Amino acid sequence: MEPLLRHIVIAIFALSFLVFTVFFGRLPVFRKTPIGFLHRLIWQYFPALLRRIDSAVTGGRIYRYSSRTWNYLLYEKHPLVIIFFLGLLTTASTLLLYQTYTTFAAWHRLLIPLLLPLPYLFTYLSSRTLPNTVVTHSNHSAQVAAYPYDRILFHPNILCRTCRLPKPARSKHCSICGTCVARADHHCIWVNNCLGRENYRWFLALLASTAVVLLYGAYLALIVFLYPRVHDRFTHYDHAFPAGLLSSWAPWPLRLKGFREDLNTVMVESIAVGGISVLGVGLLAALTWPLPLGLLAYHVYLVWAGMTTNEANKWADWRDQMREGNVYIGRIQSPHHGHARATSNSYAEMGGELWPLAPRQMLVRTEDGEIPREPLPPALEGVDPDSWERCHSLEAVENVYDLGFADNLREILRG
Ligand SMILES: [Zn+2]
Ligand SMILES: [Zn+2]
Repeated sequence: MEPLLRHIVIAIFALSFLVFTVFFGRLPVFRKTPIGFLHRLIWQYFPALLRRIDSAVTGGRIYRYSSRTWNYLLYEKHPLVIIFFLGLLTTASTLLLYQTYTTFAAWHRLLIPLLLPLPYLFTYLSSRTLPNTVVTHSNHSAQVAAYPYDRILFHPNILCRTCRLPKPARSKHCSICGTCVARADHHCIWVNNCLGRENYRWFLALLASTAVVLLYGAYLALIVFLYPRVHDRFTHYDHAFPAGLLSSWAPWPLRLKGFREDLNTVMVESIAVGGISVLGVGLLAALTWPLPLGLLAYHVYLVWAGMTTNEANKWADWRDQMREGNVYIGRIQSPHHGHARATSNSYAEMGGELWPLAPRQMLVRTEDGEIPREPLPPALEGVDPDSWERCHSLEAVENVYDLGFADNLREILRG
């Protein structure tokens, strides 16, 4: 029994790590880290290798047949991941509660039906197309007025070739959703939708509620249900589960073998008491709750920094170019009275003068690494020509979308 259990635990750990890498490895914080490399290995190098083997062996037949399925899974709207996630949550909570619900104290029996529906509710709200999330002909001027163009990441009068509309600041066209998305964060395969201006808050709520439900599920299964029952059988045993494991924390490295034996005994006893389902669900929840919590922590960081995931990528691009030494920063002479072309159809004209910060700087990357020279391209007009300085770090750059953590959060919660 022991090797089997050990393999189960290792498999769950490896699976959690793999899921994390597959979905979150593309985040800019993991660029140039082993997780970022592993993500590229899974998404780029490995498929490219398979394709080469396929074209050598079958003339590319397997690729042609499978690419439709693959494209469907990755680049089209489909609810498969929602079905998988909610199916897993439903199965796991049923397996756990079927055996244990009636044994819990009254306040648990009250709290469970209050907490468990939350991930379902927030998945539903995140996956719906909300009017303020998409940019349409009818709401276009209001979307443009929502945020100023910072003239670093977002410039006025850039036309979306698909929607035939000037892109509002902070928006991004999503080819999967087929629409421009306001305050675009990222296309989330988990909720089968783009996260943008109006539904981003529901996504944060989904992450928080999923982390809470998983942690609570692990607590109910392992601590509330299994611990007293297993503990009763271990009254003779000086380090029972889990208090004994915790109290033997300090000498772990010295007693690793003893610890493994204890853990194994505890698992065998737990299965005898609650079947494989209570222990399995408890372990799965205990090992996976850090995933939504970690992602939530990353998004809290983004809120703190006044960025979307899309903008974090763009800032990371600027940072990489600054390292090459070809980036210059210039001062905008008068924020609202720049070039006529730059202001037409722009934020200020649409009545959007309520944003507290106006852009005062502009970044440019020069091909030859030399200081930008006259005549400047139209996009750079309005910059004081004497103000160009080489920019080495993002710290010298103002982010007009960052109003401070509390205001950033308020702005997100308002939708
Ligand atoms: Zn578009
Ligand atoms: Zn999308």
